[in-house]
Amino acid sequence: MAAEGYVAEVFRSIQGEGLHVGVLQIFVRFAGCSLRCVYCDTVRARERTPHCILQGVSPVPGKDRPARRVLPNPVDSREIAGAVRALAEASPGIHSVSVTGGEPLEQGRFLLAFLAGMREYGLPVHLETNGLVEDAAREAAPLADFISMDIKLPSLCGGADLFAIHRRVLPMFRGRALACKVVVADGYDAGEFEEAARLVAGFDPRTPFIIQPATPTEACGGVTGEELLACYLKAAAYLDDVRVIPQCHRILGLD
Ligand code: SF4
Repeated sequence: MAAEGYVAEVFRSIQGEGLHVGVLQIFVRFAGCSLRCVYCDTVRARERTPHCILQGVSPVPGKDRPARRVLPNPVDSREIAGAVRALAEASPGIHSVSVTGGEPLEQGRFLLAFLAGMREYGLPVHLETNGLVEDAAREAAPLADFISMDIKLPSLCGGADLFAIHRRVLPMFRGRALACKVVVADGYDAGEFEEAARLVAGFDPRTPFIIQPATPTEACGGVTGEELLACYLKAAAYLDDVRVIPQCHRILGLD
């Protein structure tokens, strides 16, 4: 099974977010996302980029700057799976492949073909998604070993109320290793945040619930420590496993 799709880049780095923070992963960044979150840190991957950049393999990790290959988009899923395999085989201690974006579910056929290739290869898959494309979410769930699903607050993500979709999609991920993440930034609505926590608790209160403070940029301000503490206490009133985890790769100077 193969399909063509839009990928912005394939590279190796340290996971900087969520429950797998600190592990070595191969990142496959899908290109294209129809949301417009104010805190988006992958603005270049929100559009379908004309090219896909594949990180090459350096014989001396961290020393030589590895060569890059540039492919025209759309790319074949088998080519991307091959690039992941090459990077993984040159990466002692590799944990998994992180499928991220953009939004992977917006390219459902391509995503499924790529995930099937990873199943064949045997590298665990970490799917990062907003879970807003229901058919693709249902089909991708059995092929992902770990799913990190964002719950989008309307006040920060274009105004549309997406909670009903989140509520329908969460049960599709039952039985997978799942965490939910809510990004908070300047201007977030506390009532929406509480609704997000209740929504996840209504699915399963044991679901790990990550509160991620947005990294401040010119386009988006951060939140204060007091606001984060208030978020934690609010979420913990409904959920058993609440954590505040910032974007660590920014601190480390990594992609
Ligand atoms: S869903 Fe993700 S990629 Fe899309 S705009 Fe929001 S943060 Fe950016």
